[in-house]
Amino acid sequence: MKAINPATDKLIKDYDEHSPVDVKNIISDVYDEYLLWKTTSFEYRSKLMHKAADVLRKNLDKYAKVITVEMGKPITESRAEVEKCIWVCDYYADNAEKFLADEIIESDAGKSFVAFEPIGAVLAVMPWNFPFWQVFRFAAPALMAGNVGLLKHASNVPGSALAIEEVFHEAGFPKNAFRTLLVSSKLVKDIIKDDRVKAVTLTGSEWAGQSVASTAGNELKKTVLELGGSDPFIVFDDADLPSCVAASAKSRMINAGQSCIAAKRFIVVESLVKQFEEQQAEIMRNMKVGDPLDENTQVGSMARMDLLEELDEQVQKSIKMGARLLCGGKKADGPGAFYLPTVLTDVKKGMPVYDEETFGPVSAIISVKDNDEAIKVANDSRFGLGGSLWSRDLKKAEAAARKVESGAVFINGMTKSDPRLPFGGIKKSGYGRELSSYGIKEFVNIKTIWIA
Ligand code: NAP
Repeated sequence: MKAINPATDKLIKDYDEHSPVDVKNIISDVYDEYLLWKTTSFEYRSKLMHKAADVLRKNLDKYAKVITVEMGKPITESRAEVEKCIWVCDYYADNAEKFLADEIIESDAGKSFVAFEPIGAVLAVMPWNFPFWQVFRFAAPALMAGNVGLLKHASNVPGSALAIEEVFHEAGFPKNAFRTLLVSSKLVKDIIKDDRVKAVTLTGSEWAGQSVASTAGNELKKTVLELGGSDPFIVFDDADLPSCVAASAKSRMINAGQSCIAAKRFIVVESLVKQFEEQQAEIMRNMKVGDPLDENTQVGSMARMDLLEELDEQVQKSIKMGARLLCGGKKADGPGAFYLPTVLTDVKKGMPVYDEETFGPVSAIISVKDNDEAIKVANDSRFGLGGSLWSRDLKKAEAAARKVESGAVFINGMTKSDPRLPFGGIKKSGYGRELSSYGIKEFVNIKTIWIA
């Protein structure tokens, strides 16, 4: 399994993959560990989870570098990612017991209550775009609930996958409470079919989600799917333009645009569209693209050259269909998977940048006649992950937010994940929730106990 630095095209390391026999042995070890781990107290688990946060804190620069060299994001963003992992570890260490406390419910019983019990080994199939954060937001609640974790990470980030295992082991978790499997996606089916694996969570593309969910469905195992998105960024006629434009560029460009909740379709009322597109293009044109290890870099490389090529195809096709290019629209000269910050306007239905998810630094601006049409266009998508809505009238904005078909709407702010708030989508963006009290309850047995 090769880790290649996408900013230099150079091989970082070729890792040995686990064989099918290794995988069976690891599942067996993890299963045995579960029988012990599930009996441990919240106090004990919490102590270890805080220690995991400490290990991350102590090695923040080291882990940030692992992320940056494997997938190309600027080092400043990698540090922020590790900091967020620290937050989620501390958050579940502090709150898991409260979230999973017995819930007394009045019924015809002398006493009836709900208990939340662990279910066993949970397989996490994870993507490369936030190689630490995606895993920690699964692992912290799963381990705190008394489950054990198996990680199948994206094939281009094996170093991150092993580093995360190292964090838990250094923190003092039993070795088999969390294991990384270095395997290709071909082995995922067999792992799901193993009786000792009880559930699967996948963050990734629609296609991977379909494949994993159908295998898990056949096995009658629970899944949580966090899939793609084409989040609308809705600009009403009374929006505060300067803050809105600044947030629009930031939201589109974090992680070189490779974020599921990045704003992707900018839906702007026609009275503001000219100013919006000029100002956004101005910011994008001036962003510093370059060496991800340079502290001043704002936009790093994309994670793989094939992803850049796919993105460029979407851009060129949209231009052929009538989209107007304001900046970018091509790979940067020289080595590495650098794509120039790109703004397309006059975007219409039928163009790839309107209909499909664009996973890279490409903004698609769609002009609409009024606020009502903006909501209609926002909902004209097979995806429903996040969304952002801009208006000075908060009452109107709140009412409009309820009409947006998505798992979240942020008013006058960019969409972001936060351990305290549930995260997930509807439509083709998947189902189930991560983070908050909702996330930790996805992989527990919600058990009713009724006493006469
Ligand atoms: P991807 O190709 O679907 O890969 C994600 C993970 O799934 C990887 O570990 C991959 O392994 C595995 N995988 C791929 N095909 C599979 C299959 N048929 N069966 C089992 N596992 C399979 O996605 P990506 O390109 O890495 O990530 C980008 C996508 O993830 C975007 O659509 C993005 O929106 C989505 N995403 C969603 C969220 C969210 O929270 N909703 C967050 C981040 C990203 P290999 O690497 O070995 O192929």
